[in-house]
Amino acid sequence: MINKIDHLGIAVKSLDEAIPYYEKALGLKCEHREEVPSQKVRTAFFHCGEVHIELLEPTSPDSPIAKFLEKNPAGGIHHIAFGTDNITAQLKQATDAGVKLIHEVPFDGAGGKLVAFLHPKSTFGVLTEFCTPKPAAH
Ligand code: ZN
Repeated sequence: MINKIDHLGIAVKSLDEAIPYYEKALGLKCEHREEVPSQKVRTAFFHCGEVHIELLEPTSPDSPIAKFLEKNPAGGIHHIAFGTDNITAQLKQATDAGVKLIHEVPFDGAGGKLVAFLHPKSTFGVLTEFCTPKPAAH
């Protein structure tokens, strides 16, 4: 079940240039920065109430974020992420409803979460992520 909007993903050319806007102009606090090799991005997270802001900077020209910035040179909202308590069931529900997936199998995202994306052609143009905390390793 989807239980919240977990975060908004925002593409930026440079974390170092964008972070001061969020900290100084908006007064939010950067909680942590992390590189996510699977997505070829560096991320910075801000708390905004229950929701997080995830800034995404490409680490390589073939990063999905680099491609987004080619089309949107100023940057912009890249994706919306819904938190779910069962990502596998959530993906099945979407598939059963006829939604095309980008990832059939969840993978390691930022913040120790499992994530998977739905195809924007199936979601009325909004790149949509499901995410769930990764079960603790035993
Ligand atoms: Zn995300």
